[in-house]
Amino acid sequence: MRKPIIAGNWKMHKTLGEAESFFDSVKDRLPNAGRADTVICAPAPFLASLAGRAGDGSPEIGAQTMHEEEKGAYTGEVSPVMLADLGVRYVIIGHSERREYFNETDESVNRKTKSAFGHKLIPIVCVGESLEEREGDKTAEKISGQVRAALEGISAEDAANAVIAYEPIWAIGTGKTATSDMANEACATIRSTLADLYGQETANQIRIQYGGSVKPENIAELLAQPDIDGALVGGASLEPESFIALAEAA
Ligand code: PGA
Repeated sequence: MRKPIIAGNWKMHKTLGEAESFFDSVKDRLPNAGRADTVICAPAPFLASLAGRAGDGSPEIGAQTMHEEEKGAYTGEVSPVMLADLGVRYVIIGHSERREYFNETDESVNRKTKSAFGHKLIPIVCVGESLEEREGDKTAEKISGQVRAALEGISAEDAANAVIAYEPIWAIGTGKTATSDMANEACATIRSTLADLYGQETANQIRIQYGGSVKPENIAELLAQPDIDGALVGGASLEPESFIALAEAA
């Protein structure tokens, strides 16, 4: 059985004080710690402080992106070595906002995914189609192509620990959620792509999240779907009560 995983993606929100007080107020109130994994993907400047606060009864810490190299002349970037050293466990790779605004490509997503595994970080690899692609009936082709490209050259053993987030671009931050059937169909496409790459047994171990306007009111229906193992949540992860409600649904 796959363990559900609820991850908050704070994007570029909060001050350090707000981040710390969020963390202190959810700690020990996540009802099903142990039954589901919970993760907060915080802005880079907060990671050290939050990782220092993390422990039993708290969410684990994730980063929102990283550079693939261990060190070097990459002004402004954060390396996997730095993240691992802080106690960060997860890293979002290839979020559609990174692909759109920061020129991330399938190739750089693949390099970062490999690098994450090389540093014992669990990548949350994001894939998803635009509205135009959905309307042009290109969803399956787009997301399975992104999954294949992201995992190129990655062993089955590593892939089994990956998290894939299916995030239709048109549903992110728009209030438009994919219906649970639509979301499950895309997640099932991802799982069959994974089965094609690694065999059904490995594909059955890989957790697939849905993301895009997930909130406490719609998460239960999404998680009830057979191929949806969790959620990557932006807006609704910013408030402690809302994050706790999301975690409770898992
Ligand atoms: P949203 O963002 O929940 O605010 O739609 C999801 C995401 O971008 O990961």
